Amino acid sequence: MKSRIKHEIVRVCRLLHKKNYLAATDGNVSVRLGDRVLVTPSGVHKGLMEADQIITVDLTGRVLEGEGRPTSEIRLHLLAYEVRPDVSAVVHAHLPYATACTLAGIDLLEPILPEVVITLGGIPTAAYATPGSAEVPTAVGDFLKEYDAILLSRHGAMTMGRDVADAYNKMEKLEHTARVVLAARLQGPVPSLPAAEVEKLRRLGKEYKGGG
Ligand SMILES: [Zn+2]
Repeated sequence: MKSRIKHEIVRVCRLLHKKNYLAATDGNVSVRLGDRVLVTPSGVHKGLMEADQIITVDLTGRVLEGEGRPTSEIRLHLLAYEVRPDVSAVVHAHLPYATACTLAGIDLLEPILPEVVITLGGIPTAAYATPGSAEVPTAVGDFLKEYDAILLSRHGAMTMGRDVADAYNKMEKLEHTARVVLAARLQGPVPSLPAAEVEKLRRLGKEYKGGG
């Protein structure tokens, strides 16, 4: 089980690098297994990382197994697991287009694309915080409870899922959304979906998640 999940983390890290969702040693991925968390190490290139470099920590971040240090964003991952018992995987990446939206002041919480309203509800932007510091989890704060994909101003994004593939898929969706919105903004203002349609899509989203 643990070995299989480590390989899934490696696959996702390689994909994140291949898709240019991060550069070099940026970004981090974790998976929760009960009271243990498997997490990527600090300072390792995500396209070149191997499964035996993944570190096991407890829910306070204490290293139980592995060499080196866990990612500097470990606090962000641990907070997500604390606040969201339904979440088993967290991905953090430095998405270029989505990060550009935060620099340009484009709010992806605006309901623009129907599938984003259905699957993610929306994509809020957390206030700027020094990367790797305790300010990051504080900035993300209450968004964690309500959203599975959150932009970090001038920094990147975090996504959460029931497994690492689910969290990765949300990252891909987020970046795709940012590309579409930025391309449309080059042509002029982008109108939001009408309120009645947003309501309908939110209901569909709840059914889709099995929330009734
Ligand atoms: Zn980062």
